[in-house]
Amino acid sequence: MFNYPSLKASDVAPSSLLFIPDSSRSSSDSLYSADILHHPSNVPLIPPATQRPPAPPRLAYPTLSRHPQGAPSSTLQHVSNDRYRTPSQESARIIRDRAVDDRVPELKTVLLPRDCLPRFLSIAALNTARNRETCGLLLGRDQNGKYVVTVLLIPKQHSTSDTCTMDEEELVMQFTEERSLITLGWIHTHPSQSCFMSSVDLHTHSGFQRMLPESFAVVCAPKSTPNFGIFRLTDPPGLQTILACDAKEAFHPHPDIPIYTDADKGHVQMKDLSLEIVDLR
Ligand SMILES: [Zn+2]
Ligand SMILES: [Zn+2]
Repeated sequence: MFNYPSLKASDVAPSSLLFIPDSSRSSSDSLYSADILHHPSNVPLIPPATQRPPAPPRLAYPTLSRHPQGAPSSTLQHVSNDRYRTPSQESARIIRDRAVDDRVPELKTVLLPRDCLPRFLSIAALNTARNRETCGLLLGRDQNGKYVVTVLLIPKQHSTSDTCTMDEEELVMQFTEERSLITLGWIHTHPSQSCFMSSVDLHTHSGFQRMLPESFAVVCAPKSTPNFGIFRLTDPPGLQTILACDAKEAFHPHPDIPIYTDADKGHVQMKDLSLEIVDLR
């Protein structure tokens, strides 16, 4: 695993962003490291500095973990199941009545191909059987005022039972730039845990959502019921709470307020649409 230098949003050239840049929404703090990190492990997540490959040149991809140095400390203990699903995290999720049309009015609708989740789970099945996470990016376009997910991109990655780390993200940048795609969301598995947004997931997602308010996170938990969730941070207060949180620990509780919610009962709609899958592994 290696880390990229953190970037300020203002350093990032709009043309190289995977997201729709919106400087009015960007705060001045650094973006995130390259890692998609979820659940701590007793395996050190980064090798000692002397073993790390040299940092690549500056990258514009808004990275995926909140840890500027890329990883929680190696002193974190491995945990199984929901040790980090604190009461505050659990209660932070708003469960809304499907019958209520509570689409957030200021958000554009995002159309997600209905078969995206089963196809992603199929791609992830080998990792899942080995109790390893899998992650992907949901890319698409603005079509007639709606965002439409058209590509599921599986980046090069390495994973453990509780982490998934994207590698060579310059390949992802190249792909999205060449195709003029927008990163609309991200998807990952919890191979043995339940379906929720961990504190690390919340911080990861805050980096997406502050760049594009419509960004959503899909969590697939094939061994759990429910086995998937499509989430976003509440705005307010969830997005602001997470962006302002400076907890140093990878996993930590947040205030007992509604921090995230089910986007699929809001602005994300599943439709029968075609989906291209690009696997960079
Ligand atoms: Zn997760
Ligand atoms: Zn936090």
